[in-house]
Amino acid sequence: MENRILGLHHITAIAGNAQRNYNFYTKVLGLRLVKKTVNFDDPGTYHFYYGDETGSAGTILTFFPWEGIGQGNTGSGMATNIGYSVPEGSLDFWADRFKQFNVKHESADQRFGEQLLAFQDPDGLKFELIVSPAADNRKGWETKDVTADVATKGFHSITLTVKNATPTAKILTDIFGYKLLKQEGNRYRFITDAIENASVVDIIEAPNLAAGRGAAGTNHHVAFRVKDDNILMEFREKIASKGLGITPKIDRDYFFSLYFREPGGVLFELATDNPGFTTDEPLNELGTSLKLPKQYENSRKQIEEVLPVLQ
Ligand code: ZN
Repeated sequence: MENRILGLHHITAIAGNAQRNYNFYTKVLGLRLVKKTVNFDDPGTYHFYYGDETGSAGTILTFFPWEGIGQGNTGSGMATNIGYSVPEGSLDFWADRFKQFNVKHESADQRFGEQLLAFQDPDGLKFELIVSPAADNRKGWETKDVTADVATKGFHSITLTVKNATPTAKILTDIFGYKLLKQEGNRYRFITDAIENASVVDIIEAPNLAAGRGAAGTNHHVAFRVKDDNILMEFREKIASKGLGITPKIDRDYFFSLYFREPGGVLFELATDNPGFTTDEPLNELGTSLKLPKQYENSRKQIEEVLPVLQ
C-alpha cells in the first residue's frame, strides 16, 4: 500500500489580490492558513497554503496571488474544478453563507448519486462542495462561523478537462493505480483504493473546448501524494520510462516534488508527506509569520517590503 499514489496531495491555483484571497479562504470558507511563504521561483510573490489544522495531504489548497495578473480562461488542458468533501446536511448552511457574502454559486445539484453545490472564489476559480455517501472521518478546521459540523473536510476530487480522455486516463490507471469507477456523458470518474479520501479524479473529455489560459481564477497544477522521497523516485523512473519529461527531485521545504506534464496538458506534481508544515514553525503557530526558504533569508527585508501587507 505504502508505495502507491495516495490520492491528492495539494492543488495550486492562481489568484489576483492577496488580501481578497486570504479573506475568502480563511473567513468565508473557514480554512486554516497553514503556511505563509513566497513563490520559490518568484520570491516577490506570496505562496499561501490553506488546509486543515496540520495541513494534511489531501486538504491543501495553495495560491500564488499575482497582483494585476488579469483573468485567466478555464479551458482544456487544465484542472477545471476542485471538489471539497463536506458533511451531510451542510449544503443549506453553505448556500446561505454564499448568499450572505455575495459568493457566486449555483443551486444544489446531484451527480453520480452525490449532492453538490457549485461556487466560485472571487477570482472565478471553480469549486464544488460534495456530500459523499462514503464515510469521510477527516475533521475539518473549525472557525467561529464555520464549525466542524459544516466545515470542509479536505478534497473530494479534482476535475481535469482535456481534449482526449484516453492518454490522461492511462497515466491514472497505468502509473498511478486508479480505476475507472463510473461514466456519465463525457465525464469519467477514476478512483484509487490506496486511500480513503481525496481519492477521486474526474476527467471531462471536451474535444472542441478551447485550451485554457492560466492566470487569475485558474488552476496551476495538481499534486498527487506519495509517502516519502524513496517512493517519489520510484515513480520518477516509471514516468520517465513512458517517455514523459519529468523534473529532478525538488525540495519545496515542506515536501519533495517532481513535476511532469501529462499528455492532456495538465501539469502534474508528485509530492511527499515528509517533512510537513511543522518543520519550521510549531503547530499552534502555523501560518502566522512569513517563512522563507534558506536561499532568500538574507533578502528578507527587501522581500517583506515588496509583499503586500495582510490585514
Ligand atoms: Zn505544487
